[in-house]
This record gives sequence, structure tokens and C-alpha cells, in this order.
Amino acid sequence: MNRPHVVVINTGGTIAMRAEEGKGVVPTNKLPFSALLPYLERHARITMDDYLNIPSPHMTPHHMLDVARRVRAAVARDDVHGVVITHGTDTLEETAFLLDLVVKTDKPIVVTGAMRASDELGADGPVNLLAAVRVAAHPDSRGKGVLVVFNDEIHAARYVTKTHSANVATFQSPLHGPVGTVTHTDIFYHHAPLVREHFPVDTLAENVALVKAAAGTDDFFLQACADRGVDGVVIEALGLGNLPPAMVPGVRRLLTARIPVVLVSRCYNGMVLPVYGYEGGGRQLDELGVILSSGRLNGQKARIKLMVALPLSRDMNRLREWFRR
Ligand code: ASP
Repeated sequence: MNRPHVVVINTGGTIAMRAEEGKGVVPTNKLPFSALLPYLERHARITMDDYLNIPSPHMTPHHMLDVARRVRAAVARDDVHGVVITHGTDTLEETAFLLDLVVKTDKPIVVTGAMRASDELGADGPVNLLAAVRVAAHPDSRGKGVLVVFNDEIHAARYVTKTHSANVATFQSPLHGPVGTVTHTDIFYHHAPLVREHFPVDTLAENVALVKAAAGTDDFFLQACADRGVDGVVIEALGLGNLPPAMVPGVRRLLTARIPVVLVSRCYNGMVLPVYGYEGGGRQLDELGVILSSGRLNGQKARIKLMVALPLSRDMNRLREWFRR
């Protein structure tokens, strides 16, 4: 039988962890996937690439770029049909979105993980990995960008986010919903992501800060960013894209230093717009030169996009154009 060939790149996370007496849930010396191979091999020929075994809070932009290089190398091979990446769930959406932006291919790239450790009752890792391999091997998964498969749902990397700290149904795409469903017998797509972007980079601007606004916050963190000379700053603003007035001096200082400032909303639905004209309002920030992200990206995804965009251009107009999509 001519089965599709799927490369599984393992990076760690709870899917690869076990509970150890007196230590809590920790990475294992031996990845727990070999027992699953007979099940995975029913759907595809599997090559395991045990790249990392780290918790995803230990994942850095440097690691993410390495994963991207491995994915590029795998999809460049004629005999490879698709790629699966196993990953801790905490930063899974960031790696998935980075891959979506920097790897250009129509071959399926699927990211998955687990909320329960591999030795826990009701562990979701095995079923998520099996579903991810089935999606990566499926012809309908081609040309859909990077996908996140979790709890029998297929999500677009661009919109998916971790919404619950413990529930196995944690990955959701607010406003957009999943793009497909995994059933016992088949895989169904009901949407296709319309926005596909590609940034042909092999380096990242790693020093991009993420700052959150709240009632009464001042510019302490923005001033610290300016002191440090960061590459860029993403601010999770209030509502439609507004900041407390005490944050504005920090914004002005960053812009004067030609450090790009990108604004997203801390609301998990909707985008930012230049509507309010009061001190700190989105309209004033837009006039100052802040880049309003209309792409409905959350803060952590906008940070990834700025990291990817800056090595290509520091021109504010170009950056503004890229964040309008
Ligand atoms: N803290 C774990 C990690 O991200 C959570 C998980 O994998 O679900 O590595």
C-alpha cells in the first residue's frame, strides 16, 4: 500500500511529560510515542524527528526558527506528504503562527499537543497525535496554511488561541471557529482561511516586547523598553485601541526613537480602529504614528509577526501595510 509519508517533529510539552513522585509533571527521558506508532502507521508512514523535549514556556524564538528550518527541510523532500509538530500548549499558538508566516508550502503542517500528561488517566496526547497525523496525511489539508489539531477540531494557526488553562477543549478560534472536524472515519473542512501571508526570513527580531494596558497604567514598561532599545513593542490596548493618558509619553518616546509600536486590543474579539480622539484614544495614537493592527491578531501573535517583519523592513509605512491585513 502506498501510504503518505508524515514527518513528526517532537519538541516536548505535556504530551511528552509524566508525573513523577515528589517532582510534579516533568519531561521524561524517553518520549512516550513509540507505543503509538502502530496506530499512527495505519494512516501514514512515520518518521520521528526528536528535536527537543522542553516545556513550551522554555521555547524561544531561536528554537521556533529551528523548528521552521526543520519543517522547510521536510517539506522540500518529494517523498514527504506532510509534517506534524508536537508542542507544549502554553506557547503552541506562537510557534504555529510563526511557521504559518515563514514556511511557504502547500503541504500540510499540523501542530498538536496535550493538556494531560502521558501517564494521566484520560490522557489526550495519543488521540491528538493520531488526529494530527490523519490531518497531515489527508489530501484536503493541502493549501490551508499551518493547522492546529486538538480535541478533534482543526484550527487555522492565525486565529487559534489557548483559551483554558486546563480543559482539553482549550484551543479555540474566537470569532472564526474551527476550519474543520476530525471524526472516527474521516476529516471534514467547512472553512478555508482566506488570509495567507509569507515572510521569507531566516532571522527574527527577537527583542520585541509585549505590554498590556489596564485601568490607570502608566508608561513605566514603555520607558523601560526605550531604555533597553528594543526592536519593537506591541501594546495590548483597551477596547477599540485606547490607552490611559499616562502611557502616551512612553509611546511618544518610542516613536521618536524610531521604535515601531503596534497596537492590538486586549479584547479577544474584534480589532483596533482610529475612532476615539481623546488623549490616549486610538485616533490620536494613529496620528502619532502607532501601527494599528487590523488583522485581529492577539498580542502574542502580533509580537511574532513584528519579529518576522522587522528583518525585512523597518519602514513604518511598510510595517503599517503588513499589519493592515
Ligand atoms: N506547560 C505545558 C507546556 O506548555 C503545558 C502543555 O503542554 O499543555 O509545555
